[in-house]
Amino acid sequence: MEVHYVHHPVPTLDIGPHVFPVDKYAILNDWLRSEVGVDDHRWHEAGPVDRTDLERVHEIAYVDDLVNARRSPRTLASELPIRQDVIAAFLDMAGGAITTAELALDHGLGFHLGGGLHHAFADHAEGFCYVNDVAVAIGRIRSESRCQRVLIVDVDVHQGNGTAAIFREDPTVFTYSIHQENNYPVKQRSDLDRGLPDGIADGPYLDLLAQDLDSIDARFEPDLVWYLAGVDPHIDDQLGGLSLTAEGLRSRDDLVLGRYVQRGLPVSVSLAGGYAPSPTDTARLHMGTVTAAEALRRGGAG
Ligand SMILES: [Zn+2]
Repeated sequence: MEVHYVHHPVPTLDIGPHVFPVDKYAILNDWLRSEVGVDDHRWHEAGPVDRTDLERVHEIAYVDDLVNARRSPRTLASELPIRQDVIAAFLDMAGGAITTAELALDHGLGFHLGGGLHHAFADHAEGFCYVNDVAVAIGRIRSESRCQRVLIVDVDVHQGNGTAAIFREDPTVFTYSIHQENNYPVKQRSDLDRGLPDGIADGPYLDLLAQDLDSIDARFEPDLVWYLAGVDPHIDDQLGGLSLTAEGLRSRDDLVLGRYVQRGLPVSVSLAGGYAPSPTDTARLHMGTVTAAEALRRGGAG
């Protein structure tokens, strides 16, 4: 098993003072190369996404709005500026997700240093999500018959509402979301939802997660797992109300990644959310997921 990374070499977007930590991407790129020592062989630049891939998931009218950065009822629920450069950067996330899935299938683990835009619906934007990158990537690899059955494990503190809606009628994609119940967004129905009480701590959280993954095993056999590893369940998160520590998040990542990698299943990872007091703090929490993946690589699992 090898861990391959997909990064975005985009210049830092200027969206003004905003809770969305745009700078975390550049910080992570730097740390992956300088501290983790990821070499060129495992370092891949996100490619662009084409309309065919977008339209497999998103409605044509919405794709038109997106590529033209048009204000419309379909884009207005976005909490980011409706601007060509911002939307372009987020569309690139879909290209990055496709590359990530291909790397997962080729090498065991594809790690997207971005993405996890799980609030985007087929016909509209929501939150910080213009495009459902994971759904677009799943559509693409399935169109190439590279895999058929996908399990989505979404541990971001916010429910994966867009993803749940997109795959609601699709029995070959199992959507699991473990999230804070009393938080954004308006909930959709995933195949399995675990709505958590406010302030839950590491121990009970990890117990519930393990229990849910066991129950999914009895219901669904995937040939690819997509892990949305949001770090916003952290106690200091500005948009989350759970009480996980950095160690708890790391245990969570070990639990999820270890479980599927050790079975030899290909795993794609997306960063998803994280709104620590600073982009550096957020990036440091995401590094826990990187460290968990690297530990599995060194362990020679699979
Ligand atoms: Zn989130």
